[in-house]
Amino acid sequence: QDHYLPLRLRDKEIDINKKYEELRGSVKSILNLVVVGHVDAGKSTLMGHLLYLKGIVAQRTMHKYEQESKKLGKQSFMSRGVTVDVAHRTFETSSKTISLLDAPGHRDFIPSMITGAARADVAILVVDASTGGFEAGFETGGQTREHAILTRSLGLSELAVAVNKLDSVDWSQERFKEIVTSLKHFLKTVGYRDSDVTYIPCSGLTGENLVEPPRDTALKNWYSGPTLLEAIDNLPVPERAINRPIRFCISDVYKGQGSSMCVGGRLETGYIQNGDRLMLMPQGDIATVKGIQAENLEPGYSFAGDHVTLNISGIDPTVLHVGDFLCDPQEPIPQTTRIQARIVVFNITVPIIKGSQFDFHYQSVNGMARVKKLVSQLHKSTGQIIKNRPRALVKNSSAVIELEFERPLCLEVYKNYKELGRFMLRNNGVTVAAGMVTQIN
Ligand code: GDP
Repeated sequence: QDHYLPLRLRDKEIDINKKYEELRGSVKSILNLVVVGHVDAGKSTLMGHLLYLKGIVAQRTMHKYEQESKKLGKQSFMSRGVTVDVAHRTFETSSKTISLLDAPGHRDFIPSMITGAARADVAILVVDASTGGFEAGFETGGQTREHAILTRSLGLSELAVAVNKLDSVDWSQERFKEIVTSLKHFLKTVGYRDSDVTYIPCSGLTGENLVEPPRDTALKNWYSGPTLLEAIDNLPVPERAINRPIRFCISDVYKGQGSSMCVGGRLETGYIQNGDRLMLMPQGDIATVKGIQAENLEPGYSFAGDHVTLNISGIDPTVLHVGDFLCDPQEPIPQTTRIQARIVVFNITVPIIKGSQFDFHYQSVNGMARVKKLVSQLHKSTGQIIKNRPRALVKNSSAVIELEFERPLCLEVYKNYKELGRFMLRNNGVTVAAGMVTQIN
């Protein structure tokens, strides 16, 4: 193939917005939800109970764990059952299908929660309203602040805050107000306006105000706002970028019929139809789409946000890798060995310095990255520069850095492609920072 010829993606354009409306107008949009909050805030119990009320965790499973935890003398009858059951669950709200990212409840949940946050469209922040519980999560050492900074840094523009365990303080409105006031003040400094945040008094243990409006008069007397489920339903759906150039990130490769190949993955932006010619990046080879399949979706089309399998021909199987991209040949994804990025550093023990090496992760892409330069340190909440060219970055700091990759990676700037500009830096399997690409050099 001669890639210097302007290769056309398709011979004839169609009115894709009309087609989308026709095929998907009545299909609920899928939102990826991450649940964050201090350890023991009640995340597992809350989500477990919600799934249970939605009929997703079977009664029998619940009963079994109830018996087991009684034997163990454990207060939370749900946490164990749920921990096992929760991973990648979906449930329905009135206008959306919610896909729950990662399983809360494990002690090692935090790193996966962070991975979850980087892929999430929306977030619930769970806080513990019990006496001293909120304070433990909110003050020094607590994760409430860190997690709110993280969701904000990763571009989640609205939050639902579950003010949980309010049963333990007899549904005290005063306690609820006290917590909301503290959080409002703090969340504003992080960049959430009051109108971006909904506070929902609830109990993961009793199930109060999760799916059905409050029954307990102690809460009913003063609260008439949304249930947790309604609040989730009200979170904004990210724009489906069907009118943008194609970016299909490959997460699975296997042999199809005859000489064709199958690639699974997520179409981040644009739309694909049968017969399209796509450019494989970073290789530059051209593939032709012979078939498009996804569960519950009409064959022949794929739109931004879909997880689909493409049947492609014309490509040498040996050049296909997980982490590669299929793109519009006229506007392929850039590849680079150097980027500038804004990062949030997690609870690390060894400071990040010039020359530090990390595993660079995003989507299905993996690579080695080296810190080329520490450009500036930023104020964690306001994002203002507090120091130019810092010598080291310690835990919980924010910064602008330059990274250099061992081999070229396909990336986009966060501002242009939200979906493709967020990444994670890891070390020995531990996530040390999350960030977004601000510049491709
Ligand atoms: P996680 O670490 O955030 O996932 O928290 P868990 O769901 O494991 O809950 C931590 C503890 O809080 C457990 O002992 C639960 O029984 C208790 N708990 C969770 N939700 C509630 C609640 O709504 N009310 C009360 N009173 N206790 C709760």
